[in-house]
Amino acid sequence: MAVERTFSILKPDATERNLTGAINALIEGAGLRIIAQKRMRITRAQAETFYAVHSARPFFGELVDFMISAPVVVQVLEGESAIAKYREIMGATDPAKAAAGTIRKVHAKSIGENSVHGSDAPDTAAREIAQFFSGNEIVG
Ligand code: ATP
Ligand code: MG
Repeated sequence: MAVERTFSILKPDATERNLTGAINALIEGAGLRIIAQKRMRITRAQAETFYAVHSARPFFGELVDFMISAPVVVQVLEGESAIAKYREIMGATDPAKAAAGTIRKVHAKSIGENSVHGSDAPDTAAREIAQFFSGNEIVG
C-alpha cells in the first residue's frame, strides 16, 4: 500500500444539480483528501485532449459536448491506493450496474452523464493532473 494521487472531475450533471458538496462528502468519507480543487468551464479542445483515448468511439462527440455543457470541478485526491479506491467508490460507468452506495449509483443520471471521472492508472493520473494543475496549486 502506498499513498497515491488521482485526478477527479465532478462532471456537468453534478454541478448543474448542485451536488458538488454531496459528492465531496462521499470522497472524504472514504478517507481520500481533496488536495487541489477548482471549478471551471473546460474548452472543447481541453475535453477532446482529455478524452482522446475515446476519439474513435461512437459516443465521443456526445461526451465532449456534455463535458463542456456546464462547469466542472477538477480535483486532485490523495490517499492510500487512491486510484483504485476512488474507482471503487465511483462505481461502474453505467449507474444501473454500479454497486449500492457508490457515487454513480447514488447520483449519476445515465452511462454518459455519470457525475464523476477518476483516473484508471498511475500514468494516466499523472498526465491528467498535469493537464489541469500546476505544482503550486496542489497542497497536500
Ligand atoms: P471516466 O473515464 O469518465 O472516469 P470510466 O473510466 O468509468 O469513466 P470510460 O470507458 O473511460 O469509463 O468512458 C469515459 C466516459 O465516456 C464515461 O464516464 C461516460 O461519461 C462516457 N461513456 C462511456 N461509455 C458510454 C456509452 N456507451 N454511451 C455514452 N457515453 C459513454
Ligand atoms: Mg475512463
